[in-house]
Amino acid sequence: MLQFKLVLLGDSSVGKSSIVNRFVKDSFDEFRESTIGAAFLSQTVTIKDDDQDVTVKFEIWDTAGQERYKSLAPMYYRNSNAALVVYDITQADSLEKAQSWVHELKNKVDDNNLVIYLVGNKVDLTKDDEEKRVVDRDVAEKYAQENGLLFNEVSAKTGEGIQQIFQTIGENLYEV
Ligand code: GDP
Ligand code: MG
Repeated sequence: MLQFKLVLLGDSSVGKSSIVNRFVKDSFDEFRESTIGAAFLSQTVTIKDDDQDVTVKFEIWDTAGQERYKSLAPMYYRNSNAALVVYDITQADSLEKAQSWVHELKNKVDDNNLVIYLVGNKVDLTKDDEEKRVVDRDVAEKYAQENGLLFNEVSAKTGEGIQQIFQTIGENLYEV
């Protein structure tokens, strides 16, 4: 079994804990308590290599987004193999915050194989009302391409795209 460390970064209330909760427990809370410091969880994915099933275990650090915890972040991302940098597609400044995390990761993490996945969460909110969207998918996708990041829009609420994030990261890390 392979093990990888993964960290979640992003502004508070973009849905980091909800994404982890969806992936690890396949559930969603409308009234989730905000994370204090950081939380640790783990979950596996199975990837296929020819006919063989390979189990990849993620050790996940879900950090708190608040400014007062910012100095703790390096402790969690320093030894990570992968980072999920999350924004909320209904909050414009959350993309800017995500971009500043990407910048920090690129400057501070030595591992050139660090996999960074930019995640636009809460896509469910735009299904009934497209006006709720304030971050264009194309803008975020272009930024991701230019910076060598994986990218998708997801919903922790409905589960759309969540499993795929971890599957893709597992496959990427397995190939490295
Ligand atoms: P964190 O601070 O980044 O960990 O964010 P949380 O996971 O605590 O979520 C903040 C709020 O956004 C909570 O009220 C969640 O229920 C809500 N939320 C999280 N993900 C989604 C989503 O995909 N869709 C919707 N509609 N709400 C979400
Ligand atoms: Mg949280």
